Amino acid sequence: MAQQFVIGVDLGGTHMRAALASTDGRLHARDRTASGRDIEPAEMTRKLVDQCRSLMESAHGHGGGVAAVGMGVPGSIDRNAGLIMHSPNLPKLNNYALAETISKALQVPVHMENDANVFGLGEGWEGSGKGIRNWVGLTLGTGVGGCLLFDHKLWHGDDLGYAGEIGHMPVQPEGPVCACGKMGCLETLASGSALVRGVKEAWKSGRPMTPALQQAVKEEVLSPLEVFRAAQAGDELAVGLFTIMGRALGLALAGLFSALGIRTAIIGGGVSAALLGAARVALDALANRR
Ligand SMILES: [Zn+2]
Repeated sequence: MAQQFVIGVDLGGTHMRAALASTDGRLHARDRTASGRDIEPAEMTRKLVDQCRSLMESAHGHGGGVAAVGMGVPGSIDRNAGLIMHSPNLPKLNNYALAETISKALQVPVHMENDANVFGLGEGWEGSGKGIRNWVGLTLGTGVGGCLLFDHKLWHGDDLGYAGEIGHMPVQPEGPVCACGKMGCLETLASGSALVRGVKEAWKSGRPMTPALQQAVKEEVLSPLEVFRAAQAGDELAVGLFTIMGRALGLALAGLFSALGIRTAIIGGGVSAALLGAARVALDALANRR
């Protein structure tokens, strides 16, 4: 029998990454192409179809065929209709039946899931969550994504299109306004964008900071990694932002652990060392509290 392959696609606000894997989880080919926040649905579809076709050719080169495509998309998803309900990072795709359209073009089944949930599926299958029965997952990047795995299965709640949105749990009721419209969500205190915003606000109010941070703000190239480097060098402002981040993560995880009666969190995402460092601080703080 010919070997079976699957294609996995990570649809992001800046890039679309795709990979060809055999059904035992081994990667055989990868591809990356630019997307963009304001990409039109037709353009996105064309790029995705081209990307998948080229990986399908690779599969033929390996003597097999592609059985299905799985896509991780930032936002809330109607999985049954193959429809993006709402995506803050790709707003032009709201209410667009992306999976169905790609499926018709490629003539293979296409399944769509929230990107943090896809992280949960992957880590549970072949990653850090392998063999762990119950856990919460966090993806730390520009924003904060989350997923819940109970009995090795992804939790979908009442099938409202979202579940495990840990990034939008309120941790500071009077805190900064979140992209979702609420105030003080975990994401407003514990993400890459929170670190960058914290430094920019401090710069406007004239607070002292390292020359490297000042320069990055002026040149509009400030990144979370820059803030991490400043914290490592002992800059008070940067250390303060990481402390806030660590506390917020600790608070959210402690609440979840108590409510769910579980003890494992798996942290990942398109992260820099900076964000993982903060997560470790939070988890150490949690462990010491017990
Ligand atoms: Zn929010």
